[in-house]
Amino acid sequence: MPGNRARILVLHPVLDVLDYRVPHGMQVEPGSIVVVPIGPRQFVGVVWEEERLPGEFVGDNRLRNILAVADAPPIPASVRRLVEWTANYYLAPHSAVLHMALRSTAALEGAPTVVEYRATGTVPDRITPQRAQALERIGERQGLVRELATIAEVSEGVIRGLVKVGAIEAVTVSTDTPYPLPDPLFAPPELSQQQADVASILRQAVGARAFQPFLLDGVTGSGKTEVYFEAIAAALAEGRQTLVLLPEIALTEPFLTRFTARFGCEPVAWHSDLRQSQRRRAWRAIASGEALVTVGARSALFLPYPNLGLIVVDEAHETSFKQEEGVHYHARDVAVMRGKFAQCPVVLASATPAIETRHQVELGRYEELKLPGRYGAAELPAIEAIDLLAEPPERGRWLSPRLVKAVEETLGKGEQSLLFLNRRGYAPLTLCRHCGHRFQCPNCTAWMVEHRLIARLSCHHCGHTIPAPEMCPECKSEDTLVACGPGVERIADEVSALFPEARTAIVTSDTLWSPARAAEFVQRMEHGAIDIVIGTQLITKGYHFPNLTLVGVVDADLGLDGGDLRAAERTFQQIMQVAGRAGRGEKPGKVYIQTHAPGAAVMQALVSGDSEAFYAAETEARRYADAPPFGRYAAIIVSSEDRVAAEEVARMIGRSAPQLDEMHVFGPAPAPLAMLRGRHRFRLLVHARRAFDVQDVIREWLGGLSWGPKVRVSVDIDPYSFL
Ligand SMILES: [Zn+2]
Ligand SMILES: [Zn+2]
Repeated sequence: MPGNRARILVLHPVLDVLDYRVPHGMQVEPGSIVVVPIGPRQFVGVVWEEERLPGEFVGDNRLRNILAVADAPPIPASVRRLVEWTANYYLAPHSAVLHMALRSTAALEGAPTVVEYRATGTVPDRITPQRAQALERIGERQGLVRELATIAEVSEGVIRGLVKVGAIEAVTVSTDTPYPLPDPLFAPPELSQQQADVASILRQAVGARAFQPFLLDGVTGSGKTEVYFEAIAAALAEGRQTLVLLPEIALTEPFLTRFTARFGCEPVAWHSDLRQSQRRRAWRAIASGEALVTVGARSALFLPYPNLGLIVVDEAHETSFKQEEGVHYHARDVAVMRGKFAQCPVVLASATPAIETRHQVELGRYEELKLPGRYGAAELPAIEAIDLLAEPPERGRWLSPRLVKAVEETLGKGEQSLLFLNRRGYAPLTLCRHCGHRFQCPNCTAWMVEHRLIARLSCHHCGHTIPAPEMCPECKSEDTLVACGPGVERIADEVSALFPEARTAIVTSDTLWSPARAAEFVQRMEHGAIDIVIGTQLITKGYHFPNLTLVGVVDADLGLDGGDLRAAERTFQQIMQVAGRAGRGEKPGKVYIQTHAPGAAVMQALVSGDSEAFYAAETEARRYADAPPFGRYAAIIVSSEDRVAAEEVARMIGRSAPQLDEMHVFGPAPAPLAMLRGRHRFRLLVHARRAFDVQDVIREWLGGLSWGPKVRVSVDIDPYSFL
């Protein structure tokens, strides 16, 4: 740090890099978390290496003082490099990325303390009967004045008097009770030979303390978790930290249970559902290195682990790892960079790895570790397609006779069934039979979805809801509104009509909105209190129900329309995942997929179980189209409440697009979701060669333009959503 000045990355959306004076007597180093003034307000910032963050030079005489250094460990260099990389790659402000590392501002205020009291052993000169009683009953105990008074059955004044004469003293106690330490030797599992071989490779990689990405590839039920648990055990034995990323917060609960069974206590959990006090405690334990294993959603990736020895991304193919708001990053890809900066192995675990990840294996950048076959007695379920044209459901119903019969037989055997439909609510569209009116969200280009359980229509994009209407708002007729198409609630109705005796459960983010609710559901499943589950993608991963032997995919074609480049791959992954729920115990499983297109390549691959052929064909199609991972995309979304303003800016951006051979710009065109949350949206799609530095071009291109405050322009590098 030259002289007594410091460059600070401030958590301020615009003025993010500023220089400050380090006042006499204050010690800071790169990474120090500080408080600085901007105008009359105070902001948190982090001291940065000057050469890594260009800023405007300000003369010494104009510098303001750093106000304070936070009572928290400095942000490690590996995290500072990650912040820089993420900001550059995803074209995001550095401060927005840093914000994800400093997710608990309360944690920066130091450990919260309380003052407790205990006896010193000194006997006061003047001893009254009450004082004697107090000292005798308190003995070795410690507590607040109020607590000690209660124990001793004296007034608080007596205790205070004893403090004054030195018979009782004050002690400052941190309220942050330490987390229990997971024990690598608590319950080591019996591994198959194949599992043991893979585990040994991972243990060695942890011991090598070097960056190495792995793809841990094995069908559901092949024991991937047991295997990466051995890598965690190796990191624990060395006192190094592990981060496990899960795609959904609902999966945290089953993970915690398995982890506790293996290591004797829970890991530290990090997700959006934490209370502020839990978040602050977790942040401090992570930043101090005390939290040895953290499990979390994608936001856990940026936390300041000082001593990271292993990163695991479970269900690494999941698209929910892609953040769609704020900084548009992909947690799977950032996790790999995190491992690179921290010099530790990264394990991407998946039964259906993304084509991007497979491609990295082909290029020799990731090492593939395969776990063939299911562990133990379980076998992969047989998959059969039901052609909905040849075997249609009864009128007004959604389950074909063959699937209904299979559910009936499963019930008869006392086993459990799962009906999968990736659509929440009762019906995706409500229309008036008389005038044709359709209920559309006023803020979005989307239909209002009927949720019959709460008697409302709601928009799944912006959350706008209205009470379930009794008459058509257009023609005012009553009893003319009809629900079109099924959601899980409607399937549940059909099931109740077919099997009135069966005990059913609906599993969606509406019913399992917290880890506690998820845990309750798991318990009921395990105890056989549920016969038929009707669920969305929430049910497709992580769970292990040995008595679940039948899976029915209600509408396998659902994911295929939407026209996004990953549609077939996503459908394949999702149905493989849900199929993997069947027959995980001793009993074999059976899977039916209802489809209108049994001849489609993805359906044939599912039925034949030939995933290699499917991936080979998909990969070729991507190569031919120069789509990821062979080419790359970036989306530029221009939005405003004012449609004309948005369109003008989008056109202006389109007109000034650089003319380059390596890059093509499509649009602007109204985005498929032309209106979202009340904002009109236009999209430009940039397509470029893989090796082309598209970020640099976009930075320069947009950097030279300006637009009014009513218009927002956001860039999504490597987009997953094409809406
Ligand atoms: Zn009408
Ligand atoms: Zn909406």
